[in-house]
Amino acid sequence: MSTSVPSDLPTSDSPTPAGPTFADLGLPPALGRAVADLGFVTPSGIQAQAIPALLQGRDIVGVAQTGTGKTAAFGLPLLASVDPELAAVQAVVLTPTRELAMQVADAIQSFATHLPGLGVLAVYGGAPFLPQQRALSRGVQVVVGTPGRVLDHLDRRTLKMDAVRYLVLDEADEMLRMGFAEDVERVLEATPRPRQVALFSATMPPAIRRVADQHLERPVEITVARQSSTVTTVRQTYAVVPHRHKIGALSRVLAVSDADAAIVFVRTRGAAEEVGSALVEKGISAAYISGDVAQAEREKIVERLRSGALDVLVATDVAARGLDVDRIGLVVNYDVPREPETYVHRIGRTGRAGRQGEALAFVTPSEQSRLRLIERTTRSPLEQITIPSPADVSAHRVERLLARTAERAQLGRLDMYTTAIEAHLAAHPDVTPVQLLAVLTALAVGDEGPVARTGDDLDDALQRAHLAPARGHDDHRDGPPRERRRAETHIAGGPPRWRVAVGHRDGLQPGALVGALTGEGGLSGKDLGKIDIFGSFALVDIPGGLSPEAVDRLARTRVAGRPLRIRVDTGPRPGHGASRPSHGPHRGRG
Ligand code: ADP
Ligand code: MG
Repeated sequence: MSTSVPSDLPTSDSPTPAGPTFADLGLPPALGRAVADLGFVTPSGIQAQAIPALLQGRDIVGVAQTGTGKTAAFGLPLLASVDPELAAVQAVVLTPTRELAMQVADAIQSFATHLPGLGVLAVYGGAPFLPQQRALSRGVQVVVGTPGRVLDHLDRRTLKMDAVRYLVLDEADEMLRMGFAEDVERVLEATPRPRQVALFSATMPPAIRRVADQHLERPVEITVARQSSTVTTVRQTYAVVPHRHKIGALSRVLAVSDADAAIVFVRTRGAAEEVGSALVEKGISAAYISGDVAQAEREKIVERLRSGALDVLVATDVAARGLDVDRIGLVVNYDVPREPETYVHRIGRTGRAGRQGEALAFVTPSEQSRLRLIERTTRSPLEQITIPSPADVSAHRVERLLARTAERAQLGRLDMYTTAIEAHLAAHPDVTPVQLLAVLTALAVGDEGPVARTGDDLDDALQRAHLAPARGHDDHRDGPPRERRRAETHIAGGPPRWRVAVGHRDGLQPGALVGALTGEGGLSGKDLGKIDIFGSFALVDIPGGLSPEAVDRLARTRVAGRPLRIRVDTGPRPGHGASRPSHGPHRGRG
C-alpha cells in the first residue's frame, strides 16, 4: 500500500484551502467528523464533484487515476445512504483485486467511526468461505469484494441483494482487463432497482463506455485531470542560483540531464520567451508557450514534445495547464512559485505512469524561506544539489560521445580519417595518439579550454551560494561564522583542498571516502583532514598532498557507484581565474 501523498490532493496543512471544504459538500455531521479525524481538510477534485452528485442520488461515471482520492469520493456518500439499524447488505463495492478489496473496506470502516453498529466486510477469493459467510449472516451493511467471490456468495445465497441500493465499480477498466466483464454484468443485473451506481475508471475504453450506457441512468460524468503521479516518485531537488545566472545554470542542468524531455516553468510570458529563445540560441531543442501563444500552435508544440521532435518546453503555468506528456523526466521550476499548490501541479508533470521523475527548483538567495512552505505541502524534503560545473557538462558529453563510437565504427568509411590522423601524427612526432584524441574529444564536446574568469561568473556565484547556509532565515548573503571563515580562507588561498565528484546525492558516506583515499590513494587516516560532503561533490583536506600516481588511481576509483574524479579544489578565487585548472578531467595527466 502506498503512503504517498497524491499530488493533486490538498494536504491538511495547506495554508490557503481553495474551493469547497468537506463541510460545504452536504455530508452528515458524523461523516464530516470522521474525515476531520483522518486529517482531510480540503476535498480533492473528484471528491468535490462526486460527493454532491452522489448525495443527490445521481449515478456517476468518474474518470480519475489512482491517488486522486476516489475511495472517499464514493465511500462517504455510500455511508450517508446506508442505515446502520438495518441488518442487511445495502451497498456493494466491486474491486479488481483482493488487496484493493481489503484496502477499500478498511477505508470505508475508517469513515464509519462515528456510525456505531455499521459493519463493512471484505470478501475475496483464495480465502475460506465460511468466515465470510458467518460475517454476512451477522448482517453487515457494506460488502467490498472481487467480482468472482461476490458472485459465488450470490449463487450460494449467502449474500442477498434485496436491500442493496448502492453499487460501486471501482477501477472498472482493471476489472475488465482481468476478465471480470461477465461477472460484473451479472452483479449489475442482480442489483435491484431503484439503485444508484457509481463507476470509476482510470481510462474510458469502449467496453467501459458500453457498461455505463447500458447499466447507468443519466450518469453525471466527472473527469479529473491526470494529476495522478505521486510526489514520491519525483525526486525533488533545489539549487541556490542568483537570478542573473539562471539561464546559464539551466543550460548546464539540461546538458547533463538524462531525462528524455524537460519542462521549464516560468512565471511570466516575458520570461517564457526570454528563456526559450536563450535555450534555442545555445543549440538546445526548445520551444516556449505562454498565454499569448494560440491554442492551435500550443497543441502543435505539445505534440512535438510528445513525439520527441522537441526536448525542452518552457511554459507559464497557465499555458501548461492540462499538459500530459509521459516523456517528461525533469521539471525545472525556474522560479519558486508563491503558492505551494502551483509547485505541486508543476512537478506532477513528471514521474508519470510509475516512471521516475525529477524536479529541480531554482531558488534565489532571498527566496529560501519559500522552500519550507513547499516541503510542508508536499510532505517531503527538497534535497539541495549543486549546478553541474563545466567539467560535469564536458564529462557528460564525453560519455555520450564515447558511447556512440562502437556503433559508428561498425558503419565503416573511416579510411579518410585514418589517413588524416596518421599524416598528422607523422608530422608531429611530439604528439602521442592519446594526446591527439584528447584534443579532438575536447573540440568535439565544445570545450574551448581554460578562459579568464571575471570573478562574477556562474561558478563563482554558485560556489558562494553553496557555501551560504542552505536554509538561511534573515541573512542569506553570509553564512554562519564558521562557514564564512572557511569561504574566506578559501579565497585567501589556504592549503589546497581536494574535490571529489561524489556527494550526498550519490549516498556518499564519509567512511566510504576515507576508505577509498586510504586504499587506492595510499594514504593513512592521519593524512586526512576535514571532510565536507555537499550535494554532488565533497571537499577533503589532505595537508600532505597527493602524488600524481595517487591522483591518477583515484581519478578512476569509484565510490558510491561514481568515479571520484579527484582534483584540487580551486574554490572562488577572484583574480586568479586564468590559473584555475581547466575542467577537463583529462588535463594534467601524463
Ligand atoms: P484512489 O482510490 O483514487 O487511488 P485513495 O482513495 O486510495 O485514492 O486515496 C489516496 C490517499 O489519499 C489515501 O491515503 C487517502 O487517505 C488520502 N486522501 C484521500 N482524500 C484526501 C483528502 N481530501 N485530503 C487528504 N488526503 C486524502
Ligand atoms: Mg482506489
